[in-house]
Amino acid sequence: MNREERAIGAVLGSAVGDALGAPFEFGEPGTYSARFPDGRAEMRAGGGWDPGEATDDTQMAVLTAQSLLARGGLDLPDVFRRFQCWAAGGPKDIGLQTEDVLGSGLPWDRAAAAHYEINARAAGNGSLMRAAPSAVYFAGRGRTTTMEAARRLAALTHGDRAAWEGTAVLHELIRVALDGADPLAAVPDALAGVHPDHHDRWATVLAPDWHPALATEFNGAVWPCLGSALWALRTTGSYADALGAAIDLGGDTDTVAAVTGGLAGAVYGASAIPDRWTRPLHVPLPGFGDTVLRTAELTVLAEELLRAGA
Ligand SMILES: [Mg+2]
Repeated sequence: MNREERAIGAVLGSAVGDALGAPFEFGEPGTYSARFPDGRAEMRAGGGWDPGEATDDTQMAVLTAQSLLARGGLDLPDVFRRFQCWAAGGPKDIGLQTEDVLGSGLPWDRAAAAHYEINARAAGNGSLMRAAPSAVYFAGRGRTTTMEAARRLAALTHGDRAAWEGTAVLHELIRVALDGADPLAAVPDALAGVHPDHHDRWATVLAPDWHPALATEFNGAVWPCLGSALWALRTTGSYADALGAAIDLGGDTDTVAAVTGGLAGAVYGASAIPDRWTRPLHVPLPGFGDTVLRTAELTVLAEELLRAGA
């Protein structure tokens, strides 16, 4: 399998996970396997989403991708502006914290920090969910650049360093997977790059014997979200089964599946993603006219990210 196939797998895999998980958001564990007892899951409507409709996770991922390509690199004020334009366009869903930060009226380099100073709790999974495109873009530039870019992108909406470090780890694991190596085996190396204040808590949820039942927070928080994605990858043998395990956990199913799908897509490649899931996949972009990206456009986006980032 070549690098391009894995890059498309990461971008498409994350979007498919988001759309497949969306109807199950805030549901009980086991809802997904009960809905599809033969194991052959389909894209379904639910929670206000049409079948195959990607949510804010993928919408923000696409905005990040488009900024990286249009600006020829990391232009943080531009990414922030695109996020604000999108938020003002009335998306069906937006993270509470993300909405507060983007609507605060503060400049791009103050808004998230100011929110964190007031609320103290800002370690939601909202910067993990949009990571696949930027992980592809920065992968060719090595671990340090990848992890630092991830932190800066996360910091646009999340003032808590825990979210930056988790997003940095996810970027790094996708980078390793694009090289054809095993991201699970790369966890210790990625942890070595984590800020010392946050290392132990991340090491706990990313350990081989960690299980989602051990989570100390709802999986809308950054630690159990990434921990659950790694657990889903570790305990299954295919892209589809990894997504199934992630969504069957319940809770913040679209985002846990978006994170799982980005990783599993990079590991198993685009051809491992079932056609019955990519066919109905579509990504509206509120605030940007009637733009709707489908699998063909997401594929081109992934190819361009890989080429431009190399
Ligand atoms: Mg969502």
